[in-house]
Amino acid sequence: EIEIPESHPRYQSLLTRHRIEAGVEKGITSKQGLIAQGRGEAFDYLIGERTTESAEQAERVAAAHLLLADSPVLSVNGNVAALVPGEIVELAKATGAEIEVNLFNRTEERMEAIAEHLREHGAEEVKGLTADGRIPGLDHERAKVDADGIGNADVVLVPLEDGDRAEALGEMDKTELVIDLNPMSRSAQVASVPIVDNVIRAVPNMTDHARDLAAEPNSTLEGIIEEFDPEAALSAAEDAIRSGDME
Ligand code: ATP
Ligand code: MG
Repeated sequence: EIEIPESHPRYQSLLTRHRIEAGVEKGITSKQGLIAQGRGEAFDYLIGERTTESAEQAERVAAAHLLLADSPVLSVNGNVAALVPGEIVELAKATGAEIEVNLFNRTEERMEAIAEHLREHGAEEVKGLTADGRIPGLDHERAKVDADGIGNADVVLVPLEDGDRAEALGEMDKTELVIDLNPMSRSAQVASVPIVDNVIRAVPNMTDHARDLAAEPNSTLEGIIEEFDPEAALSAAEDAIRSGDME
């Protein structure tokens, strides 16, 4: 463990890097995951390393979707497992969602390591290891899902999903909630709810919103969803990046 003084101006960013590095050492995160993190950081820097008003709204909408869903699933890859394992478990508990491990470069070792890591952080059941379902339109390894998990889900949260799979999932008539700091990435573009924010901030925010909305009637949740415009959310994120306006 390294010590990073909290007063360091880039404390959050250094902590994040350290978690990803530790994830690689533990066999949870792939080396490709390090590159993905670098891309994310660049966008986060441009957005001002904060949750924009528009992203906050998308997080509330995403929470409403998870609460209304019949079979919501939170998809977890190596970066998500390294960065927010406990926070994913909290979100699952607050929304009644299942957790499923879903890897771009799938290996049984990494699947097992991530499932174990999530259990250490309080997950009761972790799906993804059965792999008895397929996403149509993807090659064999990347198509694998659990039939009673993502295969059967009506709402799926896919943080940091790759563009191809995000597109294929969208074509399966699932409501796709995507967390991705790049508003121009295909994953964000095909999402029903693009959340342009760092997964480190987005997941706990969604949990707060889910707790806040938990007692609301379905009609209120439906109203929140109805008002949301994904195109406007993507434009707002792009504006935040282009304006260089940190607030
Ligand atoms: P495509 O355009 O097909 O979607 P991609 O360029 O997005 O491809 P990857 O590099 O695999 O392909 O995706 C990583 C994505 O995840 C990037 O868009 C990056 O901005 C985002 N990302 C990385 N780290 C984080 C993070 N901590 N929080 C939110 N988003 C992140
Ligand atoms: Mg992408």
